[in-house]
Amino acid sequence: MKAAQIVNKNERYTLCDVPAPTAGPGQLLIQVKAAGFCHTDIMVSHGDFGSPYPITGSHEPAGIVVAVGEGVQGWQVGDRAASLNKVTECGECHDCKHLDSAFCPNGNLAGLHTDGSFAEYFVSLAKNSAKVPESMPWEVAAPMPCAGITIYKAIRKAGLQPGGVLAISGLGALGHIGVQMAKAMGLFVVGIDARPGPLELCAGLALAPDVLIDASKTSAEEAVALIDKKVKSTFSEERPSGVDAVVVTAEVPPALRFAFDITKRHGTYVLVSQPEELRIPFRELIFKNVTVVGSLQGNGADLQETIEFVTQHDIQVHTRTWAGLEQVGPMWDEQVSPGQVGKNVVLF
Ligand SMILES: [Zn+2]
Ligand SMILES: [Zn+2]
Repeated sequence: MKAAQIVNKNERYTLCDVPAPTAGPGQLLIQVKAAGFCHTDIMVSHGDFGSPYPITGSHEPAGIVVAVGEGVQGWQVGDRAASLNKVTECGECHDCKHLDSAFCPNGNLAGLHTDGSFAEYFVSLAKNSAKVPESMPWEVAAPMPCAGITIYKAIRKAGLQPGGVLAISGLGALGHIGVQMAKAMGLFVVGIDARPGPLELCAGLALAPDVLIDASKTSAEEAVALIDKKVKSTFSEERPSGVDAVVVTAEVPPALRFAFDITKRHGTYVLVSQPEELRIPFRELIFKNVTVVGSLQGNGADLQETIEFVTQHDIQVHTRTWAGLEQVGPMWDEQVSPGQVGKNVVLF
């Protein structure tokens, strides 16, 4: 079968012919209909995850189940599926046995450690796969196991009740989905970005943020004043200054800092981006009593919940689709261009 692979470190994709996989016990063989391209895929090329080369890219598959492995329940040939990239789990560690297998440290991630879904066929773990309704287009389903579930879980981890004030820093692939989810959850939503494209995209959404902040022109102090003013005019009861929680999808140090500075005392800072490090002076962390939370993605049940939430609330996923694996070259150029907005997805 055809697959787009990173053959050597620091290279881009090469179209290769590789053997098609088969479904073993607990697995689904999926004929890939769409696969998303992610910032993480570029990090794989740079060697950030110690990936073995050659390796097939993408960890965001959606497609049709064409074979069901031994012992799999609840799935049949012909089902529409999207799958997490957790393709092996040890089943023995504390997380696998008692907590959340999404955190199993002994598992392999497709696209990072083993071959991913920029290929005609992909093998997933059935327990880490979710049903995709007919109404959800393939290009929307593909980003669900990465951008969709990651931002959904991060917002849930912020732990706010309806009426809470949530900021989302970075309105790219994750953020533009996140602001809509947060609005649908009944939160007061602040969207922050320093790029005109994502700000324009979010301003035009049916579930647009209550406040949009252009961080290229606004200091954190000015942002807090704007947020406080809008919150005051929206709610009758007195509220503290700043946001109750922030979900950070942006990665550059000024954005990480901006997000902290707009968070209220006793607030929550949820990090989903992958900066080299997160620097917060202890005085500010301690005296503001801010809780800093890391958020990964989730498990199969979280993925199903995400897909159902997106369907139920008609969340719009802004995608740019590319017809076939032959397009991975120009798609890569688009992904790294400064004007990039939304999510790049290959359709098969
Ligand atoms: Zn991804
Ligand atoms: Zn485990």
